[in-house]
Amino acid sequence: DIQLSQRVGRVKPSPTLAITALAAQLKASGRDIIGLGAGEPDFDTPDHIKQAGIEAIQKGETRYTAVDGTPALKQAIIRKFKRDNGLDFTPKQILVSCGGKQSFYNLCQALLNAGDEVIIPAPYWVSYPDMVLLADAVPVIVAAGQADNFKLSAAQLEAAITPKTRLFVINSPSNPTGVAYTGEELAALGEVLRRHPQVLIATDDMYEHVLFEGRKFVNILNVCPDLYARTIVLNGVSKAYAMTGWRIGYAGGPEKLIQAMNIIQSQSTSNPTSISQYAAVVALDGDQSFIQTMVSAFEQRHAFVVKAFNAMDGVECLPADGTFYSFPNVEGMIQRLGLENDTALASYLLDKTGVAVVPGSAFGLEGHIRISFATSMANLESALGRIASV
Ligand code: PLP
Repeated sequence: DIQLSQRVGRVKPSPTLAITALAAQLKASGRDIIGLGAGEPDFDTPDHIKQAGIEAIQKGETRYTAVDGTPALKQAIIRKFKRDNGLDFTPKQILVSCGGKQSFYNLCQALLNAGDEVIIPAPYWVSYPDMVLLADAVPVIVAAGQADNFKLSAAQLEAAITPKTRLFVINSPSNPTGVAYTGEELAALGEVLRRHPQVLIATDDMYEHVLFEGRKFVNILNVCPDLYARTIVLNGVSKAYAMTGWRIGYAGGPEKLIQAMNIIQSQSTSNPTSISQYAAVVALDGDQSFIQTMVSAFEQRHAFVVKAFNAMDGVECLPADGTFYSFPNVEGMIQRLGLENDTALASYLLDKTGVAVVPGSAFGLEGHIRISFATSMANLESALGRIASV
């Protein structure tokens, strides 16, 4: 029998990927399944970006690049940070990775020692706690439930910080809730962080562009520029340009940390795909109108989904500020159906209605489900109709 590492025993496979795979498997076996589990836009990568990928292959941009990204892409990222976020970085402060997922993985590996604590507000993106565990560190989960608009307060942050705290993770707009922190809320968190200089801040801005009704994106550095020396900004092209399969994420932050992450990456994957990097330059520098087209569709679907959920017996759904997720409270429905919890409800819905959703407990908050509305209105109407009928 093969003895596996204790490390791998500490983590579980991504529950969102597992639900998506299960839905695909049931569908392939002939069942009528509507998957609302996927964490990716249902749009195709815009043509001018695809063309750039084709051009990259034809021009022979098919070799190793610098581990931390091509000079051209790093410059495009520097321009993007300046243009969209008013942030200044030098090339040595930028690391391009194989998706935002690898950016956060590199961060954990480069920063954390055994026993170090990382504060993660719940509900959270499923990968944060497990990547912290893979670095032998300790995820400190602080719940911010529906009554708090799913947002961590300054007092909660203060109470969670100990001498062992090394990192605080903030993701706004958030996967899975879609809520975004306001400038004032971020300033209040920054006020606390100022008093604890041992804590590094990771702001995961992956959904920066997916904001509804003209809301303006703001991150903690915009309101607390004095925290620049200990903040790392994580972002990528996956969600903004419907490029999930291209695997390009990037980070901007303190040079010492970025260079340490670069070493980790140099001994794991090396550079992200040369072809994807070439296309990412065009995504960041080129016509941005695709984003608005996509966000308008999400905005329309969001309005439909929130209304449909709130009309259901035992469901309560807060409107989101952005992203393509809804995170309704389904405690009343769980109770009405005599089920044990949200995981049982997700299984029940898949079994009885063929609709695949992810239980809230996968994101660290029970009594909820996450649905992705990155699918057609027709699919959403049908899926929500089925959920309403149980
Ligand atoms: N951060 C958040 C909050 C996400 O939801 C995701 C993807 O689901 C990522 C980072 C990573 O995205 P990718 O690795 O596809 O670039």
